[in-house]
Amino acid sequence: MNGKIDNCSTYKLCNGIEIPTIGFGTWQIPNDSVGSNAVANALNMGYRHIDTAQAYQNEECVGEALRISGIDRDTVFITTKIANENHSYDLVMSSFENSLRLIGTSYIDLLLIHWPNPAMYRSRWEEANAETWKAMEELYAAGKVRALGISNFRAHHIVALQKTAKVQPMINQIRICPGEAHDDVEDYCRSMGMRIEAYSPLGTGSVFKMPQIVMIARKYNKTVSQVCIRWSIQKGYIPLPKTVTPERIKENYAVFDFELKEEDMQVISELEGTNKNMCDPDTVPF
Ligand code: NAP
Repeated sequence: MNGKIDNCSTYKLCNGIEIPTIGFGTWQIPNDSVGSNAVANALNMGYRHIDTAQAYQNEECVGEALRISGIDRDTVFITTKIANENHSYDLVMSSFENSLRLIGTSYIDLLLIHWPNPAMYRSRWEEANAETWKAMEELYAAGKVRALGISNFRAHHIVALQKTAKVQPMINQIRICPGEAHDDVEDYCRSMGMRIEAYSPLGTGSVFKMPQIVMIARKYNKTVSQVCIRWSIQKGYIPLPKTVTPERIKENYAVFDFELKEEDMQVISELEGTNKNMCDPDTVPF
């Protein structure tokens, strides 16, 4: 990665679809006017990529934000995720139609399986994922989804999915922030041509206390948040920062006018292991 990335930057997924380099995270954003104002603020400040999920129960406020911002739907990249209770062919189809209705759109840009091994499908997760993916492939073939992907998948989940998949996942969305990486998963995904989305790029708030990052932020006259998001971009990830606070929405997008030097990238990368928090996808209680 290099400093040439600007705020219009996109990556091309392996099917040629373009995805903006930063997405606006919406987990824990309420499905009310606070939520829709936060998402509309993000759109007005330049974000063109919104990450929601059936499980966040806020798809409606994402749709409302699009309408109040007045921004053309076709210029915004919207991701949603199939919730853990919907891992069957019929439930994917019906829940997907519901997501379209809530968002008020006729298509989704990126549809992900949220978790590979939900508690309620634990005894038959491989079969449930195969069925889920088959339904997603049909939505993709019908043009209702522009790209398909997965989230929280480790290599063994991907290998299992690939036994029956006709369309390969184009994205894996996993938790990556200073102090937490998953190099084995990342290497496998990259070898399969997938892009990595970095969820919780601010460690759900935990990065602000990391002294090494505070020092680097001072050195560049940037904030801790900007340094973390910039690190994520320079690592080649697609970070998905979340905030409902207007100044922070703006701050988190102002990361295209500086570049972290290799030595500082290294200091941050070497924090690996100090901020681990990703749930084990094979034992999650949900
Ligand atoms: P995050 O973006 O790592 O951190 C969000 C926290 O940092 C909030 O408490 C926010 O506070 C605060 N914050 C944001 N910008 C700040 C700034 N400039 N200065 C100070 N504080 C700041 O958290 P996340 O929600 O865990 O992850 C981001 C997104 O990743 C989610 O919203 C979701 O879209 C995605 N995600 C996906 C999964 C999955 O399973 N696929 C799991 C988790 C997250 P305020 O909001 O109060 O301002």
